[in-house]
Order: sequence, then C-alpha cells, then structure tokens
Amino acid sequence: MKIFQTERNSDCPCGSGRKFKKCCQERVGEATRRISQTVGMESITAEGLDVIETLGFLCGLRAEDGHMPSPETLGRLLNEAWDEVEQISEIEDEGALSALSLRVQVLLGEKHKLRAIRVPVWQFEFEKDDNTGDNELFHEIVDYLGGPLGRIFIIEAVDSIGMSLLYDDYSDEDIKTLLIALGWLVIDDTRNFFLYTVLHKTAADLAAAEEELDKIRDKYEDANNEELYQELRSLLRRYPVYDQMLSENMKGDIKKTLSAVAGGKLKIETPLYSVLGGISAMLSKLIDMLDTVAAQRRLTAENLPLLEETLFAEGEFRFFFPELTNCLDKAAKESEDSELRDCVNNSLFFLILLSDRKQVAVVKLLYVYCICSFISKLPVAVPGSDIEFRVLGDFYDQPLIERYACHLEFLEMFEEAEHVRDVFRKMGEEEKRKIDLHEDELIELTGSILDKA
Ligand SMILES: [Zn+2]
Repeated sequence: MKIFQTERNSDCPCGSGRKFKKCCQERVGEATRRISQTVGMESITAEGLDVIETLGFLCGLRAEDGHMPSPETLGRLLNEAWDEVEQISEIEDEGALSALSLRVQVLLGEKHKLRAIRVPVWQFEFEKDDNTGDNELFHEIVDYLGGPLGRIFIIEAVDSIGMSLLYDDYSDEDIKTLLIALGWLVIDDTRNFFLYTVLHKTAADLAAAEEELDKIRDKYEDANNEELYQELRSLLRRYPVYDQMLSENMKGDIKKTLSAVAGGKLKIETPLYSVLGGISAMLSKLIDMLDTVAAQRRLTAENLPLLEETLFAEGEFRFFFPELTNCLDKAAKESEDSELRDCVNNSLFFLILLSDRKQVAVVKLLYVYCICSFISKLPVAVPGSDIEFRVLGDFYDQPLIERYACHLEFLEMFEEAEHVRDVFRKMGEEEKRKIDLHEDELIELTGSILDKA
C-alpha cells in the first residue's frame, strides 16, 4: 500500500504547513534514491518499492533534532531484513515466524516512541461474549483494521516508526527487526502479521499493567502519598495504552462527579486565593459581554469563558489544583452515597494521574464552577479572620486585599499571599468602575453560568 499519498502540491507531511514541493520533496527524493541504490534494484517487486518509498519519506522529512540512521544504513539493513524473511517463508517455519513476532513485540515495548502503537481492544469488546476468547476478538479487530477504517491506524503506526527511528536508540539488529515489522505493515499481504503482533503486545501490556497496579495498591493500601503517585505515574508512562483505557472507562464517573458538583451534591469550596485571578478574569470577560447586545443571553455551556490563560499561562493552576483535589477528596469522604464516592475517587485518580489532554477540559470546567460559585455566594467571610468580601467591588479594594494577603502571611502561606498581591496589581481601574455600576447584572450572569454548567 502506498502510505504517503503525497503529491507535489500536497501539504508537506512533515507538518510545516508548506507545500511538499517547496519543503521536503527534494530531501525525500534524495533519501529514496540512496536507499534504493544501497538495496540494489535488480529484482525488486512493486511491494518492495512501496517499502523503500515509505522509508524514503521517514528518512527525508524535515526534523528539528533527533538522529535518523543514514539512508545507506537503512538500505543495508533492509536487505538483511528481507533475506531473513525470505528464509523463513521458504522453509515455512511457523516457529521462526512466531519468534520473529516476539522480537517485534519486545521492540514495541522497549522503544519509547513505539509504545504509541497499540490497539484500543476494549472498544471492540462489546461484541465479545463468554464463549469468544481473545483469538476470536483478535480476528474481528484484524478484519476491521484491514478495512477502510484501518487506514488511520496504519498511517499513525508508520508515523510512530519514523519517530522511533528519529528519537529512540537503535542497534543494527533492532533496526533490522523494525524494518521487518515496517515491511509487514506496508505490504497488504503481510499486514495481518503486524496487526496480530500489535494485538498480542497490547493484551500483554494491559495484563502486565493491571498486575503491577494491584501490587502497587497492595503495597500502599489506602495511603494517598506522593510516592504512590510517582509509582503509578511511572506505570502509566510505561503502558500508555492502559492509561488510555482507564481514562476512557472513567468517562461516566467523571460525568457523574461533575453533575454532582453542579447539582450541589458535592460541596467544593476552594479558598479565595486559589480562584482570585479567575474571579478578576471572569468579571472582565463578563463586562465585555455586557457591552455587546444580548451576548449574555447566548452564553451556553459550550462558549463559557474558560479562562485558560489565567489558569495556565498566569499560573493560578498551581494554587487551584491542589485545593480542588483536596476538596473533592474531602467531599467524597463525607458523602453518604457510596456509588458517588467511588465515582469521585476514580475522578481524582483521573485528574491526578492520567494523561493531560483530557484532564485539562475537566479542570477548566471545575475552575469556572468554583469561580462562579464564589461570586454567587457573596458575602463571603474568610475563615479564621474578620475579613469579609461583601460585594464584587471588594475584590478590587486595595486595603481589603492587603489585609487578606497579610492574613495569609500570618498563616505562613507566603506564596499564596504574593499571588493575591500579584493578581491585584493586574486589575484595571476601568473594570472596577464598571463592576460597581453593573454589580447586579454581573452576579446574575455568573448565576446563569452556574445553572448551565
Ligand atoms: Zn516538509
């Protein structure tokens, strides 16, 4: 199969955004030519050409850094790989073929960038009943991936192989094994070898990860300490497919947790310093909306002001996230509802440990929720002090903010105090004036965001 269906005027597959002819075409052509020359083109088949061309792309596409083996090295090892495959197929040695598949599986585990090549087998399991074992499930998946919907998987796998050659460390023997796997993948008649090999590796990863997770849990029992999290993080880094499975399986729990928070069944009340930057950013966004006619009426759950900049670029995340997880943990412990408790515990596991992209969306939602609920709760007294924020304008009141910062310093929370002063320094005078004018409307707007959350 032709993997890179790239024409002169296509976008360059290196991701530069330029046209192929103006970007990597020359380098790809050069790499392909040098690989072909080393391989020797006398008795090459059409399938062999597809493999060489794919390799020419992987080798020739622009890369910032990394250490791609030279086209000559790849050509030489490709010849050796083909010799080995030919010998095995001539003597029809099943055992040697399985041994080769195992060698590829070892590589799939050892090389960091190859860990992305796995199949989300759990997504197929709905059709599996007690009588069908892994084998039948595998047949079904191979059929699926061999069809038109499998093309994405194949292209991503080729891409991971390219990344691995570029960034992982390889001996010649390893490269040879990888080139055998690449050949299986690119050529239609042998693709199933590749797919079965990946399926076996996926199943082995999931089983190994499960077993290790049980061991780690036994070792730490219920303690939630940093060492436990470190071990879990390392486990999930080694088995990204397990990470993916857990987070997909936890979707329902997270939804339940979020709606329990929104419905008030779980009380999360993070302290003011962990959301103060967000309050200020939220108010200034809402003020802008007051000016555009009826913009606030169109405020839906999808276009909520999500305040990413305040949370991440300006760093409030550092204060918000630990408070959020503490509050969730506390709320779970206090809840009478054991099902909800499990959901929250799973959500915490998800938020603290699993891969970031999906966490970000959940954290942003909870952040907005905490900001809005803080605003709607006014007046709010700061526990353990006589400081009280009565109206929105109080967040812009210098003496009051300074008293709050001093109170935090008194509690030896120096970084938090500094953060509060920082936020205040960034607040605008113009906003303060508008907030005084539109206090009721703003509170109503945040209330409506809460309702829609
Ligand atoms: Zn390019």
